[in-house]
Amino acid sequence: MNTTTNLPDAKRVGMVSLGCPKALVDSERILTRLRADGYAMSPDYAGADIVLVNTCGFLDSAKEESLAAIGEAISENGRVIVTGCMGEEADAIRAAHPQVLAVTGAHQYEQVVEAMHEHAPPSQGPFVDLIPQPDVKLTPRHYSYLKISEGCNHSCSFCIIPDLRGKLASRRIDAVLREAEKLVAAGTKELLVISQDTSAYGVDTRHEERMWKGNSVRAHMTDLARELGGLRTSEGAAPWLRLHYVYPYPHVDQVIPLMAEGLLTPYLDIPFQHAAPSVLKRMKRPANEAKVLARLKKWRDICPDIAIRSSFVVGFPGETEDDFAYLIEWLEEAHLDRVGAFRFEPVEGAAANALPDPVPEEVKEERYARLMEVTERISAAKLAAKVGRTLPVIIDEVGEPDEDGDIGATGRSQADAPEIDGAVYLRDVPATLATGDIVNVTIEDADAHDLYGLISG
Ligand code: SF4
Repeated sequence: MNTTTNLPDAKRVGMVSLGCPKALVDSERILTRLRADGYAMSPDYAGADIVLVNTCGFLDSAKEESLAAIGEAISENGRVIVTGCMGEEADAIRAAHPQVLAVTGAHQYEQVVEAMHEHAPPSQGPFVDLIPQPDVKLTPRHYSYLKISEGCNHSCSFCIIPDLRGKLASRRIDAVLREAEKLVAAGTKELLVISQDTSAYGVDTRHEERMWKGNSVRAHMTDLARELGGLRTSEGAAPWLRLHYVYPYPHVDQVIPLMAEGLLTPYLDIPFQHAAPSVLKRMKRPANEAKVLARLKKWRDICPDIAIRSSFVVGFPGETEDDFAYLIEWLEEAHLDRVGAFRFEPVEGAAANALPDPVPEEVKEERYARLMEVTERISAAKLAAKVGRTLPVIIDEVGEPDEDGDIGATGRSQADAPEIDGAVYLRDVPATLATGDIVNVTIEDADAHDLYGLISG
Protein backbone atom coordinates (compact mmCIF):
# COMPACT_ATOMS: atom_id res chain seq x y z
CA MET A 1 0.00 0.00 0.00
CA ASN A 2 1.19 3.49 -0.70
CA THR A 3 1.77 5.79 2.23
CA THR A 4 2.77 9.40 2.14
CA THR A 5 6.14 8.72 3.71
CA ASN A 6 7.21 5.98 1.28
CA LEU A 7 6.24 7.66 -1.97
CA PRO A 8 9.53 7.34 -3.85
CA ASP A 9 9.74 11.04 -4.71
CA ALA A 10 8.09 12.54 -1.62
CA LYS A 11 9.73 15.88 -0.82
CA ARG A 12 11.53 15.80 2.50
CA VAL A 13 11.38 18.59 5.02
CA GLY A 14 13.79 19.14 7.91
CA MET A 15 12.64 21.14 10.93
CA VAL A 16 14.69 23.18 13.39
CA SER A 17 12.41 24.24 16.24
CA LEU A 18 13.66 26.94 18.60
CA GLY A 19 12.07 28.72 21.53
CA CYS A 20 9.40 27.85 24.04
CA PRO A 21 7.00 24.89 24.24
CA LYS A 22 4.41 27.04 22.48
CA ALA A 23 6.69 27.29 19.45
CA LEU A 24 7.17 23.53 19.57
CA VAL A 25 3.41 23.06 19.32
CA ASP A 26 3.42 25.34 16.26
CA SER A 27 6.18 23.21 14.70
CA GLU A 28 4.10 20.09 15.30
CA ARG A 29 1.08 21.68 13.66
CA ILE A 30 3.07 22.80 10.63
CA LEU A 31 4.60 19.34 10.18
CA THR A 32 1.19 17.70 10.54
CA ARG A 33 -0.16 19.94 7.78
CA LEU A 34 2.83 19.29 5.55
CA ARG A 35 2.59 15.56 5.99
CA ALA A 36 -1.08 15.67 5.06
CA ASP A 37 0.07 17.44 1.88
CA GLY A 38 2.40 14.62 0.96
CA TYR A 39 5.71 15.75 2.43
CA ALA A 40 8.01 13.37 4.31
CA MET A 41 10.19 14.29 7.29
CA SER A 42 13.98 14.31 7.27
CA PRO A 43 15.85 13.90 10.55
CA ASP A 44 18.97 15.63 9.18
CA TYR A 45 20.02 18.49 6.93
CA ALA A 46 21.54 16.24 4.27
CA GLY A 47 18.34 14.32 3.54
CA ALA A 48 16.07 17.38 3.43
CA ASP A 49 14.87 19.06 0.22
CA ILE A 50 14.14 22.10 2.30
CA VAL A 51 14.67 23.13 5.94
CA LEU A 52 12.11 25.00 8.02
CA VAL A 53 13.49 27.05 10.91
CA ASN A 54 10.86 27.95 13.53
CA THR A 55 12.41 30.91 15.32
CA CYS A 56 12.02 32.63 18.69
CA GLY A 57 12.13 36.42 18.78
CA PHE A 58 11.29 37.20 22.38
CA LEU A 59 14.66 38.34 23.74
CA ASP A 60 17.61 39.73 21.82
CA SER A 61 19.63 36.68 22.85
CA ALA A 62 16.90 34.43 21.36
CA LYS A 63 17.02 36.44 18.14
CA GLU A 64 20.78 35.90 17.93
CA GLU A 65 20.26 32.19 18.44
CA SER A 66 17.58 32.18 15.73
CA LEU A 67 19.86 33.99 13.26
CA ALA A 68 22.66 31.53 14.04
CA ALA A 69 20.31 28.57 13.47
CA ILE A 70 19.20 30.04 10.12
CA GLY A 71 22.88 30.49 9.16
CA GLU A 72 23.66 26.88 10.06
CA ALA A 73 20.69 25.58 8.05
CA ILE A 74 21.79 27.65 5.05
CA SER A 75 25.37 26.42 5.17
CA GLU A 76 24.34 22.78 5.77
CA ASN A 77 21.43 22.63 3.32
CA GLY A 78 21.03 25.93 1.47
CA ARG A 79 17.23 25.87 1.03
CA VAL A 80 15.65 27.47 4.06
CA ILE A 81 12.23 28.84 4.98
CA VAL A 82 11.92 30.83 8.22
CA THR A 83 8.82 31.03 10.38
CA GLY A 84 7.89 31.78 14.01
CA CYS A 85 8.10 34.83 16.25
CA MET A 86 11.22 36.30 14.68
CA GLY A 87 9.53 36.03 11.30
CA GLU A 88 7.87 39.34 12.21
CA GLU A 89 11.30 40.89 11.59
CA ALA A 90 11.72 39.72 8.03
CA ASP A 91 14.03 42.63 7.17
CA ALA A 92 16.53 41.74 9.89
CA ILE A 93 16.49 38.10 8.78
CA ARG A 94 16.97 38.98 5.10
CA ALA A 95 19.74 41.44 5.96
CA ALA A 96 21.66 38.73 7.80
CA HIS A 97 20.74 35.88 5.44
CA PRO A 98 19.65 37.12 1.99
CA GLN A 99 19.50 33.50 0.73
CA VAL A 100 16.40 32.52 2.75
CA LEU A 101 13.59 31.45 0.43
CA ALA A 102 10.68 32.82 2.46
CA VAL A 103 9.94 34.37 5.84
CA THR A 104 6.59 33.98 7.61
CA GLY A 105 5.49 35.04 11.10
CA ALA A 106 4.17 33.22 14.16
CA HIS A 107 1.06 31.04 13.63
CA GLN A 108 0.99 31.76 9.89
CA TYR A 109 0.48 28.10 9.11
CA GLU A 110 -1.14 28.80 5.74
CA GLN A 111 1.75 30.99 4.61
CA VAL A 112 4.38 28.42 5.64
CA VAL A 113 2.55 25.70 3.75
CA GLU A 114 2.18 27.99 0.72
CA ALA A 115 5.89 28.80 0.78
CA MET A 116 6.67 25.09 0.93
CA HIS A 117 4.39 24.41 -2.05
CA GLU A 118 6.12 27.19 -3.98
CA HIS A 119 9.72 26.23 -3.25
CA ALA A 120 9.39 22.43 -3.01
CA PRO A 121 6.09 21.39 -4.63
CA PRO A 122 4.75 18.20 -3.02
CA SER A 123 4.74 14.94 -4.91
CA GLN A 124 1.25 14.02 -5.99
CA GLY A 125 0.72 10.37 -5.17
CA PRO A 126 -2.70 9.06 -6.24
CA PHE A 127 -3.78 8.21 -2.71
CA VAL A 128 -2.13 10.99 -0.75
CA ASP A 129 -5.34 12.79 0.14
CA LEU A 130 -7.06 9.58 1.18
CA ILE A 131 -4.55 8.37 3.72
CA PRO A 132 -5.32 9.32 7.32
CA GLN A 133 -2.15 10.44 9.08
CA PRO A 134 -1.64 10.78 12.81
CA ASP A 135 -0.48 14.21 13.99
CA VAL A 136 3.26 14.74 13.96
CA LYS A 137 4.67 15.12 17.45
CA LEU A 138 8.06 16.55 18.32
CA THR A 139 7.67 16.05 22.06
CA PRO A 140 8.14 12.48 23.30
CA ARG A 141 4.96 10.46 23.01
CA HIS A 142 4.42 10.21 26.76
CA TYR A 143 3.92 13.95 27.24
CA SER A 144 2.23 16.51 25.02
CA TYR A 145 1.58 20.23 25.05
CA LEU A 146 -2.03 21.29 24.62
CA LYS A 147 -2.31 24.85 23.36
CA ILE A 148 -5.62 26.45 24.29
CA SER A 149 -5.21 29.98 22.93
CA GLU A 150 -2.91 32.35 21.09
CA GLY A 151 -2.04 35.94 21.98
CA CYS A 152 -2.62 38.00 25.09
CA ASN A 153 -4.82 40.87 26.27
CA HIS A 154 -2.29 42.20 28.80
CA SER A 155 0.28 44.84 28.05
CA CYS A 156 3.17 44.08 30.40
CA SER A 157 5.74 46.75 29.71
CA PHE A 158 8.66 44.33 29.21
CA CYS A 159 6.86 42.11 26.71
CA ILE A 160 6.15 42.33 23.00
CA ILE A 161 4.16 39.13 22.70
CA PRO A 162 0.84 40.97 22.25
CA ASP A 163 2.49 42.86 19.36
CA LEU A 164 3.91 39.68 17.89
CA ARG A 165 0.94 37.40 18.44
CA GLY A 166 -2.01 39.74 18.77
CA LYS A 167 -4.89 39.80 21.23
CA LEU A 168 -6.12 36.70 23.02
CA ALA A 169 -7.74 34.24 20.60
CA SER A 170 -9.09 31.16 22.38
CA ARG A 171 -9.66 27.84 20.69
CA ARG A 172 -13.09 26.22 20.88
CA ILE A 173 -13.40 24.10 24.00
CA ASP A 174 -14.69 21.07 22.08
CA ALA A 175 -11.69 21.25 19.71
CA VAL A 176 -9.28 21.45 22.65
CA LEU A 177 -10.95 18.51 24.40
CA ARG A 178 -11.01 16.45 21.21
CA GLU A 179 -7.29 17.06 20.73
CA ALA A 180 -6.62 16.11 24.36
CA GLU A 181 -8.66 12.92 24.00
CA LYS A 182 -6.79 11.98 20.82
CA LEU A 183 -3.43 12.60 22.46
CA VAL A 184 -4.31 10.44 25.46
CA ALA A 185 -5.66 7.69 23.18
CA ALA A 186 -2.35 7.82 21.27
CA GLY A 187 -0.32 7.19 24.44
CA THR A 188 0.15 10.56 26.10
CA LYS A 189 0.45 10.11 29.86
CA GLU A 190 0.96 13.77 30.69
CA LEU A 191 -0.76 16.80 29.17
CA LEU A 192 0.68 20.28 29.60
CA VAL A 193 -1.87 23.04 29.06
CA ILE A 194 -0.17 26.09 27.59
CA SER A 195 -1.09 29.56 26.32
CA GLN A 196 0.10 33.08 27.13
CA ASP A 197 -2.50 33.40 29.87
CA THR A 198 -4.33 30.19 30.76
CA SER A 199 -6.59 31.85 33.35
CA ALA A 200 -7.99 34.14 30.64
CA TYR A 201 -9.05 31.24 28.42
CA GLY A 202 -12.36 32.08 26.73
CA VAL A 203 -12.52 35.73 27.79
CA ASP A 204 -12.43 36.75 24.11
CA THR A 205 -15.25 34.36 23.15
CA ARG A 206 -17.32 35.27 26.23
CA HIS A 207 -16.70 31.73 27.41
CA GLU A 208 -18.57 30.34 24.46
CA GLU A 209 -20.40 27.08 25.23
CA ARG A 210 -20.10 23.96 23.11
CA MET A 211 -21.58 20.50 23.42
CA TRP A 212 -19.10 17.86 24.55
CA LYS A 213 -20.19 14.28 25.28
CA GLY A 214 -23.79 15.36 25.69
CA ASN A 215 -23.04 18.22 28.07
CA SER A 216 -22.62 21.91 27.51
CA VAL A 217 -19.11 23.09 28.46
CA ARG A 218 -17.76 26.65 28.52
CA ALA A 219 -14.45 27.85 27.15
CA HIS A 220 -13.27 28.57 30.69
CA MET A 221 -10.28 27.34 32.65
CA THR A 222 -12.38 25.63 35.33
CA ASP A 223 -14.60 23.76 32.81
CA LEU A 224 -11.49 22.80 30.87
CA ALA A 225 -9.75 21.52 34.00
CA ARG A 226 -12.80 19.52 35.06
CA GLU A 227 -13.26 17.90 31.64
CA LEU A 228 -9.57 17.14 31.23
CA GLY A 229 -9.65 15.61 34.71
CA GLY A 230 -12.17 13.06 33.39
CA LEU A 231 -9.83 11.70 30.68
CA ARG A 232 -8.47 8.18 31.10
CA THR A 233 -5.65 6.35 29.36
CA SER A 234 -6.27 2.99 27.66
CA GLU A 235 -5.21 1.36 30.96
CA GLY A 236 -7.91 3.33 32.76
CA ALA A 237 -5.47 5.65 34.57
CA ALA A 238 -5.88 9.43 34.89
CA PRO A 239 -3.18 11.18 32.84
CA TRP A 240 -1.10 13.85 34.56
CA LEU A 241 -2.47 17.29 33.71
CA ARG A 242 -0.43 20.42 34.31
CA LEU A 243 -1.58 24.01 34.02
CA HIS A 244 1.05 26.46 32.82
CA TYR A 245 1.05 30.28 32.64
CA VAL A 246 -1.80 30.63 35.12
CA TYR A 247 -2.49 34.13 36.45
CA PRO A 248 -3.83 34.18 39.99
CA TYR A 249 -7.34 35.38 39.10
CA PRO A 250 -9.97 34.45 41.70
CA HIS A 251 -11.29 31.47 39.75
CA VAL A 252 -7.93 29.73 40.08
CA ASP A 253 -9.11 28.84 43.62
CA GLN A 254 -11.69 26.53 42.04
CA VAL A 255 -9.13 24.22 40.46
CA ILE A 256 -7.22 23.54 43.70
CA PRO A 257 -9.86 21.05 45.00
CA LEU A 258 -9.52 19.16 41.67
CA MET A 259 -5.82 18.82 42.49
CA ALA A 260 -6.61 17.60 46.00
CA GLU A 261 -8.94 14.98 44.46
CA GLY A 262 -6.20 13.78 42.10
CA LEU A 263 -8.02 14.90 38.93
CA LEU A 264 -5.41 17.55 38.14
CA THR A 265 -1.69 17.33 38.85
CA PRO A 266 -0.97 19.40 41.97
CA TYR A 267 1.18 21.89 40.11
CA LEU A 268 0.65 25.50 39.13
CA ASP A 269 2.98 27.57 37.01
CA ILE A 270 2.26 31.22 37.85
CA PRO A 271 4.62 33.82 36.38
CA PHE A 272 4.65 36.37 39.22
CA GLN A 273 7.65 38.30 37.75
CA HIS A 274 8.13 40.42 40.90
CA ALA A 275 6.55 41.21 44.26
CA ALA A 276 7.36 44.87 45.01
CA PRO A 277 4.22 46.94 44.20
CA SER A 278 6.16 49.77 42.56
CA VAL A 279 8.00 47.38 40.23
CA LEU A 280 4.79 45.52 39.36
CA LYS A 281 3.20 48.86 38.57
CA ARG A 282 6.00 49.79 36.18
CA MET A 283 5.73 46.31 34.70
CA LYS A 284 2.00 47.03 34.28
CA ARG A 285 1.07 43.90 36.15
CA PRO A 286 -1.61 43.62 38.84
CA ALA A 287 -0.08 44.25 42.29
CA ASN A 288 -1.81 41.89 44.66
CA GLU A 289 1.22 40.22 46.18
CA ALA A 290 -0.06 40.32 49.78
CA LYS A 291 -3.34 38.63 48.86
CA VAL A 292 -1.36 36.12 46.84
CA LEU A 293 0.57 35.05 49.94
CA ALA A 294 -2.72 34.42 51.77
CA ARG A 295 -4.04 32.47 48.81
CA LEU A 296 -0.91 30.36 48.53
CA LYS A 297 -1.43 29.41 52.16
CA LYS A 298 -5.08 28.54 51.51
CA TRP A 299 -4.16 26.45 48.46
CA ARG A 300 -1.62 24.52 50.53
CA ASP A 301 -4.22 23.91 53.24
CA ILE A 302 -6.53 22.38 50.62
CA CYS A 303 -3.82 20.53 48.69
CA PRO A 304 -0.65 20.17 50.79
CA ASP A 305 1.33 18.63 47.94
CA ILE A 306 0.72 21.47 45.49
CA ALA A 307 3.95 22.59 43.79
CA ILE A 308 4.07 26.24 42.74
CA ARG A 309 6.46 27.27 40.03
CA SER A 310 7.14 30.86 39.07
CA SER A 311 9.54 33.12 37.25
CA PHE A 312 10.94 36.50 38.28
CA VAL A 313 12.77 39.36 36.62
CA VAL A 314 15.55 41.12 38.54
CA GLY A 315 17.02 44.48 37.62
CA PHE A 316 13.87 45.88 36.03
CA PRO A 317 14.31 49.65 35.34
CA GLY A 318 13.82 51.61 38.54
CA GLU A 319 14.12 48.55 40.85
CA THR A 320 15.62 49.95 44.04
CA GLU A 321 17.49 48.05 46.73
CA ASP A 322 14.31 48.30 48.84
CA ASP A 323 12.20 46.82 46.02
CA PHE A 324 14.62 43.96 45.69
CA ALA A 325 14.68 43.38 49.47
CA TYR A 326 10.86 43.29 49.35
CA LEU A 327 11.01 40.60 46.68
CA ILE A 328 13.47 38.52 48.70
CA GLU A 329 11.31 38.80 51.82
CA TRP A 330 8.24 37.83 49.78
CA LEU A 331 10.05 34.79 48.40
CA GLU A 332 11.12 33.74 51.90
CA GLU A 333 7.48 33.77 52.86
CA ALA A 334 5.97 32.34 49.67
CA HIS A 335 8.28 29.30 49.82
CA LEU A 336 7.79 28.50 46.15
CA ASP A 337 8.82 25.07 45.00
CA ARG A 338 10.44 26.03 41.70
CA VAL A 339 11.76 29.42 40.66
CA GLY A 340 13.20 30.61 37.38
CA ALA A 341 14.96 33.99 37.41
CA PHE A 342 15.96 36.33 34.60
CA ARG A 343 18.09 39.44 34.59
CA PHE A 344 16.07 42.18 32.87
CA GLU A 345 17.02 42.43 29.22
CA PRO A 346 15.48 45.14 27.04
CA VAL A 347 13.44 43.63 24.23
CA GLU A 348 13.34 45.71 21.07
CA GLY A 349 9.99 47.44 20.85
CA ALA A 350 9.02 46.95 24.52
CA ALA A 351 7.59 49.91 26.45
CA ALA A 352 9.89 49.21 29.42
CA ASN A 353 12.90 50.34 27.38
CA ALA A 354 11.79 53.95 27.75
CA LEU A 355 11.58 53.73 31.55
CA PRO A 356 14.11 55.79 33.52
CA ASP A 357 16.71 54.51 36.00
CA PRO A 358 18.12 51.42 34.33
CA VAL A 359 19.81 49.08 36.80
CA PRO A 360 23.55 48.71 36.13
CA GLU A 361 24.62 45.28 34.87
CA GLU A 362 26.79 44.51 37.90
CA VAL A 363 23.88 45.30 40.24
CA LYS A 364 21.63 43.01 38.18
CA GLU A 365 24.21 40.23 38.45
CA GLU A 366 24.57 40.70 42.17
CA ARG A 367 20.79 40.67 42.75
CA TYR A 368 20.38 37.67 40.50
CA ALA A 369 22.99 35.76 42.53
CA ARG A 370 21.29 36.73 45.81
CA LEU A 371 17.88 35.64 44.52
CA MET A 372 19.25 32.32 43.29
CA GLU A 373 20.95 31.74 46.62
CA VAL A 374 17.64 32.23 48.48
CA THR A 375 15.49 30.20 46.10
CA GLU A 376 18.02 27.34 45.96
CA ARG A 377 18.07 27.19 49.75
CA ILE A 378 14.25 27.02 49.82
CA SER A 379 14.21 24.41 47.06
CA ALA A 380 16.85 22.28 48.83
CA ALA A 381 14.83 22.35 52.07
CA LYS A 382 11.61 21.45 50.26
CA LEU A 383 13.26 18.58 48.40
CA ALA A 384 15.02 17.33 51.58
CA ALA A 385 11.57 17.07 53.19
CA LYS A 386 10.62 14.54 50.49
CA VAL A 387 13.39 12.09 51.46
CA GLY A 388 11.77 8.94 52.81
CA ARG A 389 8.46 9.56 51.04
CA THR A 390 7.10 7.45 48.20
CA LEU A 391 6.09 9.53 45.17
CA PRO A 392 4.71 8.75 41.72
CA VAL A 393 7.35 9.34 39.06
CA ILE A 394 6.92 9.40 35.28
CA ILE A 395 9.85 7.91 33.38
CA ASP A 396 11.49 10.10 30.71
CA GLU A 397 14.52 8.00 29.89
CA VAL A 398 15.86 4.54 30.70
CA GLY A 399 19.64 4.06 30.51
CA GLU A 400 21.83 1.17 29.34
CA PRO A 401 23.15 -1.40 31.85
CA ASP A 402 26.51 -0.40 33.40
CA GLU A 403 29.46 -2.81 33.89
CA ASP A 404 27.63 -4.42 36.85
CA GLY A 405 24.42 -4.75 34.85
CA ASP A 406 22.65 -2.01 36.84
CA ILE A 407 20.28 0.22 34.90
CA GLY A 408 19.49 3.81 35.82
CA ALA A 409 16.54 5.92 34.71
CA THR A 410 15.50 9.55 34.77
CA GLY A 411 11.99 10.65 35.57
CA ARG A 412 9.99 13.44 37.12
CA SER A 413 7.73 13.76 40.11
CA GLN A 414 4.41 15.58 39.88
CA ALA A 415 6.25 18.71 41.03
CA ASP A 416 8.47 18.70 37.93
CA ALA A 417 7.33 19.83 34.49
CA PRO A 418 9.46 18.61 31.59
CA GLU A 419 12.29 20.85 30.36
CA ILE A 420 11.92 23.49 33.09
CA ASP A 421 11.99 21.78 36.49
CA GLY A 422 14.08 19.13 38.23
CA ALA A 423 14.41 15.38 37.76
CA VAL A 424 14.20 12.19 39.79
CA TYR A 425 17.20 9.94 39.21
CA LEU A 426 16.51 6.24 39.75
CA ARG A 427 19.05 3.48 40.34
CA ASP A 428 18.68 -0.27 39.77
CA VAL A 429 15.52 -0.14 37.70
CA PRO A 430 14.13 -3.34 36.11
CA ALA A 431 15.03 -3.90 32.45
CA THR A 432 11.31 -3.90 31.67
CA LEU A 433 10.91 -0.25 32.70
CA ALA A 434 9.86 1.93 29.75
CA THR A 435 9.58 5.62 28.94
CA GLY A 436 6.17 6.92 30.00
CA ASP A 437 5.70 4.36 32.81
CA ILE A 438 4.47 5.88 36.05
CA VAL A 439 6.02 4.12 39.04
CA ASN A 440 6.12 4.65 42.81
CA VAL A 441 9.55 5.72 43.96
CA THR A 442 10.96 5.88 47.47
CA ILE A 443 13.07 9.01 47.70
CA GLU A 444 16.52 8.31 49.17
CA ASP A 445 18.33 11.59 48.66
CA ALA A 446 17.92 15.17 47.42
CA ASP A 447 19.96 18.20 46.44
CA ALA A 448 18.94 21.75 45.55
CA HIS A 449 17.16 20.75 42.34
CA ASP A 450 16.76 17.00 41.98
CA LEU A 451 15.67 13.86 43.83
CA TYR A 452 17.25 10.40 43.90
CA GLY A 453 15.43 7.16 44.61
CA LEU A 454 14.50 3.56 44.09
CA ILE A 455 11.33 2.03 42.69
CA SER A 456 9.37 0.70 45.64
CA GLY A 457 7.58 -2.62 45.95
S1 SF4 B 1 4.25 38.85 29.83
FE1 SF4 B 1 2.32 40.01 29.99
S2 SF4 B 1 1.93 40.80 27.93
FE2 SF4 B 1 3.51 39.23 27.74
S3 SF4 B 1 2.37 37.37 27.21
FE3 SF4 B 1 2.62 37.38 29.43
S4 SF4 B 1 0.81 38.40 30.26
FE4 SF4 B 1 0.87 38.83 28.04
